Amino acid sequence: MSYNVNDNGYYGEFGGAYIPEMLYPNVEELRKNYLKITSEDSFKREFDALLQDYVGRPTPLYFAQRFSEKYKTRVYLKREDLCHTGAHKVNNTIGQILLARRLGKKRIIAETGAGQHGVATATVCALMGIECVVYMGEIDIKRQAPNVARMKMLGATVVPALSGSRTLKDATNEAIRDWINNPTDTHYIIGSVVGPHPYPDMVARFQSVISEEIMQQLKLKEGRENPDYVVACVGGGSNAAGAYYHYLDNPEVGIIAVEAAGKGVHTGESAATSVLGKAGIIHGSKTLLMQTTDGQITEPYSISAGLDYPGVGPMHAHLYTSGRGEFISITDEDAMKAGIELSQLEGIIPAIETSHALAIFEKRPFNPEDIIVVNLSGRGDKDLDTYIEYFKL
Ligand SMILES: *Cc1c(COP(=O)(O)O)cnc(C)c1O
Repeated sequence: MSYNVNDNGYYGEFGGAYIPEMLYPNVEELRKNYLKITSEDSFKREFDALLQDYVGRPTPLYFAQRFSEKYKTRVYLKREDLCHTGAHKVNNTIGQILLARRLGKKRIIAETGAGQHGVATATVCALMGIECVVYMGEIDIKRQAPNVARMKMLGATVVPALSGSRTLKDATNEAIRDWINNPTDTHYIIGSVVGPHPYPDMVARFQSVISEEIMQQLKLKEGRENPDYVVACVGGGSNAAGAYYHYLDNPEVGIIAVEAAGKGVHTGESAATSVLGKAGIIHGSKTLLMQTTDGQITEPYSISAGLDYPGVGPMHAHLYTSGRGEFISITDEDAMKAGIELSQLEGIIPAIETSHALAIFEKRPFNPEDIIVVNLSGRGDKDLDTYIEYFKL
């Protein structure tokens, strides 16, 4: 059994491309070209050079001594927080903008919720001198002012989505409408392993540099490529997909996915999709999503903006239902505690998304000889206001 995508764009029963007819040519152009273009030597050279000199890769694989001592096991942190712009998202936006250029696209659109993907997209558009339009719900624009300012400073146009609940879902609808109206000159950069095929596979491939590096770095440090477990938080699932990628079909490596329980899985304020979700269609793919009995998507909740998403990518839906992945949900409270703890044990302030992944050590014992790699998806600078308010710092 393979846990990677099949030729038809499915992970088990999940994935595919459930899109309006008018979007078909755009998605089909991508599907036909993404593997061909990204496997060309000139593409790989340009991608690798930018990852090295612009993003700052390889990111370190750091043995967290004091954290390991506390939990009586061996924990390595993969330092995606040290990437330019402060998280893993830029690995994907670099890949997609290089692909867009090779497809002759002159304009980039994106949607963003918390603004992190919008910033990563605006960054690479500035780098390449390409026009950038980011759709964002009107409510999110008010809530995420610093990221809106960053995008504007980088030269992007931020367009408010004024319909519906004026949040991420509505921004996505606006972006899709734009793409339908601009099929030839525009590329739509999706920010996680979600959306119609080939997006989940394409984004996972761009992020797979994370596990490629883990294998090389662990080999040097421990004499083996395989940890016993690889752990990552899951919003849409792109940092997790990148951290798991080269281990997916290797049963020696345990895969642990950490979701946001919010105020508690059964409080009605949660984003724990694996527990609460059922199969359905969201953003053009079949996956697990949180919905009412009549199929309306339910509003997710998490203290962390990046995990506040009602679905997961199809790879993760398959990892869950097949039993290949172990899924753990972590409350706001436990994540916040873990964020403070890592700060004070290791001098690293993590993003609140990442804090969820770190919180599992309080919930789940590991053996003293286990090697566990936690993907440190991002740094906590963007979350300082939330930490300040929560802990009255
Ligand atoms: C956006 C974000 C996430 C969640 O997105 P995934 O696609 O699930 O990786 C996690 N951590 C950080 C720091 C983020 O910015």
